[in-house]
Amino acid sequence: MQVTLANPRGFCAGVNMAIECLDEAIRIFGSGIYVYHEIVHNRHVVDRFTDQGVTFVDHVEEVPEGSILLFSAHGVSPEIRQVAAGRRLQTIDATCPLVTKVHMEALRFARDGYHIVLIGHEGHDEVVGTMGEAPSSITLVETPEEVDALPFSPDQQIAFLTQTTLSVDEAQAIIGRLEQRYPDIASPPKEDICYATTNRQDAVRQLAETADVVIVLGSQNSSNSLRLAELGNEQTGRAYLVDSVSELPEGWDEGVQHVIVTAGASAPEDVVADCLQHLKTHHNATINEVTISEEHVHFPLPRELRHLAASRGQTPPETGWKPASGGA
Ligand code: SF4
Repeated sequence: MQVTLANPRGFCAGVNMAIECLDEAIRIFGSGIYVYHEIVHNRHVVDRFTDQGVTFVDHVEEVPEGSILLFSAHGVSPEIRQVAAGRRLQTIDATCPLVTKVHMEALRFARDGYHIVLIGHEGHDEVVGTMGEAPSSITLVETPEEVDALPFSPDQQIAFLTQTTLSVDEAQAIIGRLEQRYPDIASPPKEDICYATTNRQDAVRQLAETADVVIVLGSQNSSNSLRLAELGNEQTGRAYLVDSVSELPEGWDEGVQHVIVTAGASAPEDVVADCLQHLKTHHNATINEVTISEEHVHFPLPRELRHLAASRGQTPPETGWKPASGGA
């Protein structure tokens, strides 16, 4: 079996920052920390922190007054921040800066009198947070057909934004339809789909042409992992999205000679290493890593982590940021 290991894959700068932020919070304050929603959408990551005593909640009301609450990488709406303030929670915001950028764009467009069409997936944490910035000025669409059903006229002030982790191709199809219906539609100054989502999809698109199967390591609720699996399926007709290699279904390898292995932006590299080891041991696989693009993106740890540490007489994080590990 021949295995092509895609690079970039796995952790992005936003996920690295959120995980390091929670690691540092545990080091400074101990394990009695609460996190609103999953810190990142990956079962292994969430299980590791749960084992360390972190409590993940879906409602801020579940957090005891005065506790430390961390907001996950996907961001939250202003309403959630208000509820947290009302409970006197000490909050640390681990929202990815590229998600915050979309929040800021939503606020700016709404303030300037635009109605915003947000391209995204209903119910995703990031979409809920972004829509919460200007609920009466944002309409969500998921498909080109939903664009056709929009009630706005072409002479209205309309803008579009997108979720950061969409399929680049699907988003482009929806944007194309929007531009047909609303020729003057305003767009974000810079692409909202983030560099990590784009690079991981590009790698699969380029590498999977000659492959029989694509294995995507990631969780079922991870948007960017799902998009990688969809793309792999389009390219090869067979793609598997699994949290770990042990979840591959019986017979997945029938007639398979060439496999692409990649990982979503929230999937840890040790899960990839386990998968490669399994393929070597059980399928005599030769592994060839192919780099499609280099990543050098780093995000600083949230300032409030440092302030909270100082207010409690604890040693603050040393560097303030750590390099994201490229394709790790
Ligand atoms: S996938 Fe993109 S937007 Fe999401 S955390 Fe990573 S860098 Fe940020």
